[in-house]
Parts: sequence; structure tokens; C-alpha cells
Amino acid sequence: MIEKIKLLSKKYYPKIKELRHQIHMHPELEFEEENTAKLICECLDEAKIPYKKGIAKTGVLAMIEGKKSSNAKCVLLRADMDALPVEEETNLDFASKIKGKMHACGHDGHSAALVGAALILNELKDEFEGCVKIMFQPAEEGSGGAKPMIDEGILENPKVDAVFGCHLWGALLKGTAQIVSGEMMAGVDVFDLEFIGKGGHGAHPHTTIDPVLMSARFINGVQSIISRRLAPTEAGVITIGCVQAGTTFNVIPQNAILKGTVRYLNEQSQKLLQTNIQKMAEAVCLEFGGSFKLDYKREYPPLINDKNAASIARKAFAKVLKEEAIITEAKPDMGAEDFAFLTRERMGAYVFVGISKDLDNPVLHHNPKFCFDDEELEILMQGESLMALEFLSS
Ligand SMILES: [Zn+2]
Ligand SMILES: [Zn+2]
Repeated sequence: MIEKIKLLSKKYYPKIKELRHQIHMHPELEFEEENTAKLICECLDEAKIPYKKGIAKTGVLAMIEGKKSSNAKCVLLRADMDALPVEEETNLDFASKIKGKMHACGHDGHSAALVGAALILNELKDEFEGCVKIMFQPAEEGSGGAKPMIDEGILENPKVDAVFGCHLWGALLKGTAQIVSGEMMAGVDVFDLEFIGKGGHGAHPHTTIDPVLMSARFINGVQSIISRRLAPTEAGVITIGCVQAGTTFNVIPQNAILKGTVRYLNEQSQKLLQTNIQKMAEAVCLEFGGSFKLDYKREYPPLINDKNAASIARKAFAKVLKEEAIITEAKPDMGAEDFAFLTRERMGAYVFVGISKDLDNPVLHHNPKFCFDDEELEILMQGESLMALEFLSS
């Protein structure tokens, strides 16, 4: 089968490369991926692959049905379509034509290559049993398009048994793929915390409740949750990325606002971090007076690869690359990925595919110079098609 897939990927490569360039030249931010979805749907139309569009605004779900069988399975492959608010500085001849927007994370490649996998699987549909759903989602970078697509029922009718996805990855060498089992990427929460004090003259602090000092105490104290509450063997991050208070040197302001992000690898750690952030804010108010408002939101859950799905993905990529090119052990990355909503619902695996030529000088995601070679598209097309087929025949 791998030989057939390699031949078909050669056949479709020029088309998929052109599609990547088109998507790259016209980047669209989260939930605005109208043109990207249109380009994808045109390719699906041409191959007569049925699909539904407009799911969670711009999402597309295509379906390729293989041979019917009573115990046939259904597998889902997923790509993300959104770009970033970054001004491109690559000098590529297909660089972004839209000012201030760029595909700086490789989602142009993910989308184009998944169209390629759909075209390959469509040609092979008389040779496998079961069905493949192909998911193009909006908004991976921020608000998350996977969850609303799941809420619109993409995992049902027919019921999806397993999910697979890939990300082109700058921290890995070209020609390698990383497929771990278990914890892979972090869960992410965000919070807005407002300390409400009592404003007044900077020379008469005893007549005020100083929210700047309250914030300072909180910012210092909150790191002790990581160092003294969370077990040293567990991973966790609390970052305060934004502090806003006051207007001038001699006025103690009424309030101060902090914005932060929290990362963790399991639900137990999540609970511990959230509870203690709340307690730390309470403790600060007990010490200084004043009050606080905490708006704490859970964003993406941790991304956990299923053991069996990871082994199917390894088998597939070992055929596309080489057995020795598959990295099976790696520390989790504390970044987040909304593919996690899919692996929370169904068994699944997420694959990092290497794009860097030199790890001392790796390709940086979200950087204005981010880029990857077109030839990686073939690795994705082949790996994705084969993961689907390996699962359906497992
Ligand atoms: Zn990204
Ligand atoms: Zn990304």
C-alpha cells in the first residue's frame, strides 16, 4: 500500500504545492478562513469528494467512504486553517500578500497536505473498508475551532472511532517525526485578576489600600504555588504576562489588573493550580484589606496521545520516513493545541513532523521568518493517508 500512496502523492504534489502557495499568500485569522475553505472545497469538488462546509463558521468536514462492511470503522484526520497577526519577512516568492497577517505556524501546509491525503484516499476507496472523515478546522491559534466543530456533531453519524493529526515542527530535524504516547502538550487556562483597593495621595499611603503593592505580593507569591504546592515531579506554569495599574508617580490608584496563563499536564494539577491562585488572591486581601475579582477560564485541555493510536501512527510514519526517524520518547511541550478536544473524546494521536535543517538554529514558530520546504507536504500527505488506512485495517 505504501508504494501506491507514494505514487499518488507524487501525482498530486504539484497541485498541493500550488494550493499551499495560494493559502500562504492569502492568510486569514481565526474564524475568518472563508477563502481558505473555498480553495479547499474547490479541490474536493473537482475530485467529487462530498463535504459539509460552514461548520463552526468556516470549518469543512469531508467524507470518503471505503467498502461497506458490518464491522467497518471510521477514522478522522484533522488540519487547522488559521494564520497569525504577524508581518511576514521571509522573502519567499509566495509570501503573504496581506499586510500584518502570515502563516507563521505552518497551518497552510497542514491544510494543503490534508487535501492531498483526501485525494489519495479517494483514489484508494475501493481498497479499504470503513470511512475517513477529513476535518479542516478554524481558529487553532486562539479561540479554538475544534470544540465548536465537535459540538456540531462531526464525531457522530457515522461515529468516529479514532482521530489523527500532524503539526510541522521547528524543534525537530527534517526527516524525523515525534510520536509519543501519553502526555504530549499542556492544558491551558487564562485568568484576569483585579485587585480593588482605595486610591489616594502617594504621600499618605496609610489612608489608602494600595492595589499596586497587593499585585506585587500576588505576583511574587503565586510562583510558590509551582515551587511549594505542585509536586516537583509534576509540570506546571503560571505566567503573569500583563500588569496594569496607575497613571502617575504620586497617586495610589484604585485598582490593578493582572492577566495570566496557567499550564498543566493533568486534571489533578489543573485543580491544584486554580484553587491555589484563588487562595493566594484571598490571602493578599486578608493581609492588605481591599478585595479582588477573579475571572478564571479554562481554554484547551492537555493533549494526551493514546498508546494504541500512537503505535499505529508510528507504524505509518516508519514506512513514510525510516524506522530510525521516529522519535518515541520526548518531554511534553508546555504549549497547547486544541486537537486535545478530539483526543479527549476519542482515542487518537498527534504527530510532530520535523522541518529544521539545523537544531542549533531551528525554525521558530510564530516568527516573521518562519518557513518550511514544500517537500514536507509529501511527508504529511503520505503519513496522514497511511495512518488512516493502518487504523481502519487494525
Ligand atoms: Zn501556532
Ligand atoms: Zn500551529
